[in-house]
Amino acid sequence: MCGIVGYIGPRQAYPVVIKGLKRLEYRGYDSAGIALLNQQQLNVYKKKGKVADLEDSIVATSDLGGHIAIGHTRWATHGEPSDRNSHPHVSKSGQLAMIHNGIIENYAPIKEELLQKGYEFKSDTDTEVLLNFIEEIRVKNECSLEEALRIALKRIVGAYCILLVDVNDPDTILAARKGSPLVIGIGKDEHFLASDASPIIEYTKEVVYVNDYQIAIVKRDELVLKNLGNEKETPFITKLDMELAAIEKGGYDHFMLKEIHEQPATIADCLRGRLQVEHSHLKLAGVENNLDKLLAAKRFIMVACGTSWHAGLVAEYLIEELCRIPVEVEYASEFRYRNPIIEPGDVIIAISQSGETADTLVALENAKEKGAFIFGVVNSVGSSIARLSHAGAYTHSGPEIGVASTKAFTGQLAVLTMMALKIAQAKGTIDEARFDQLLGELAAVPDKVAAILKDSSNIERIAAKYKDASDFLFLGRGYNFPVALEGALKLKEISYIHAEGYPAAEMKHGPIALVDEHLPVVFVATRDRFYEKIVSNVQEIKARKGKVICIASEGDRVIPGMADDTIFVPDADELIGPMISVVPLQLLSYFVGVLKGYDVDKPRNLAKSVTVE
Ligand code: GLU
Repeated sequence: MCGIVGYIGPRQAYPVVIKGLKRLEYRGYDSAGIALLNQQQLNVYKKKGKVADLEDSIVATSDLGGHIAIGHTRWATHGEPSDRNSHPHVSKSGQLAMIHNGIIENYAPIKEELLQKGYEFKSDTDTEVLLNFIEEIRVKNECSLEEALRIALKRIVGAYCILLVDVNDPDTILAARKGSPLVIGIGKDEHFLASDASPIIEYTKEVVYVNDYQIAIVKRDELVLKNLGNEKETPFITKLDMELAAIEKGGYDHFMLKEIHEQPATIADCLRGRLQVEHSHLKLAGVENNLDKLLAAKRFIMVACGTSWHAGLVAEYLIEELCRIPVEVEYASEFRYRNPIIEPGDVIIAISQSGETADTLVALENAKEKGAFIFGVVNSVGSSIARLSHAGAYTHSGPEIGVASTKAFTGQLAVLTMMALKIAQAKGTIDEARFDQLLGELAAVPDKVAAILKDSSNIERIAAKYKDASDFLFLGRGYNFPVALEGALKLKEISYIHAEGYPAAEMKHGPIALVDEHLPVVFVATRDRFYEKIVSNVQEIKARKGKVICIASEGDRVIPGMADDTIFVPDADELIGPMISVVPLQLLSYFVGVLKGYDVDKPRNLAKSVTVE
């Protein structure tokens, strides 16, 4: 959600920042803009639409010179997507330009204050209010811009990552963050600033993750970090473990397809070094080093949003079954506001691909304050949630660019399964034979997923057959219930078709009323302990003339006789099954979206990492 890029150094800043904005497009946005400082001239170009529209709007006479620039892709929160609401915003005096990711919650009273002082606003954004507030403080206090920024930040409530430049100081970018991410890449006499590492990776691997409440004073050859008390803080330099190829399409039509196809490798990466089947051993440092806390917990609380929440639901089934520890699964956005009962000793498992999900982040901060132990299951190394957690396990899925999460989900399931197994082993709630069998099953997942991906023509055919349906129902039981939810979510995200996921048995309590000859119903009907029951549910839909598409286990002869269409997946233990049965559903939504002509990598209104609440 929203992208921020900045550059200061010897290169021409314009191409660096534009390219950076394109790298951040996957995060989701509705407008783009750039401010360039050329000598003491501030040039701002901004446009509703794509970065390409911004480039098109630039004419031959536009001044694109300068070695310092800030660029932004906006995901509107305050004010409709429009040219005038796009960032960068310029202050009343025309001296300052600023970009902002986040929300200034108390912008209204500040705006009122400024209006009374004669300020006029060119946009409806909270950002322009903050910018002029900073300017007003600077003028009134006759202080430096840095000092004015510090004072302003102490007064505002909300989330932000901002970059700020001043025409009178064309050698500095000021940056600050709270809640929204900011990474600074360190080159030779140059610095790159961005919301994540993807715009930086081709220039340098040395980065500093800016922390909440830090201000960065960035010059060509110097990076100073300070806290809001004006004390210097040491920048902690980390090395990026990411290659440029990982953020490019590599011959695939879309990132989503590439990422679906990467799953055999990403799941293997996630298991590598952790799963040692031949020694009947599982190594998961985050769990091993904290067994005292994990075993003493009266309950685990999964906190997540979207697809990660579905991974949390699978984990609920796994942990309750294998570890006999009660689990609750919470939407972070509800959890943070509903005054939940959290006691010291509670274990919160935070699941997030980006590690920057605003609601999850705040929910964790609240829980941490109340004494909970935070375990992060995160993909993005060095992200805010990873750093806030007491312990954790990375999913090692690599950068996920497609807005609809695919490989990160299977990575989360792999980590959560290992976690459940490790805790169950330590607690003695699993016997050796079952432990070994499940280790073997886990090790086999990459090959089973690869088998599904080898030929997706059947799934493409099914997508073509049902792409014009206006609604879909996804049904599953047990471990396949969260898979059904995930299948429905993927379809909604990518193809804009209304879809609902339901526990198959619940359908009689409502959704069955929707069934007629036009409704495709997707059953996740692999062979598990509910198999007979789900076969009956299929019959119930057929009896009402619904169209049935089944995900079935290879070799099943019953289901193909009943379903209109069947997609076979390799057999697996039901605890491991979701990692496999979700793959055809990812492909189904992908093909439907593509066949309908939609931009599957950047579905409308959606953002990759939801960094505002
Ligand atoms: N709240 C700001 C706006 O609506 C920033 C939104 C964003 O994060 O892109 O312009």
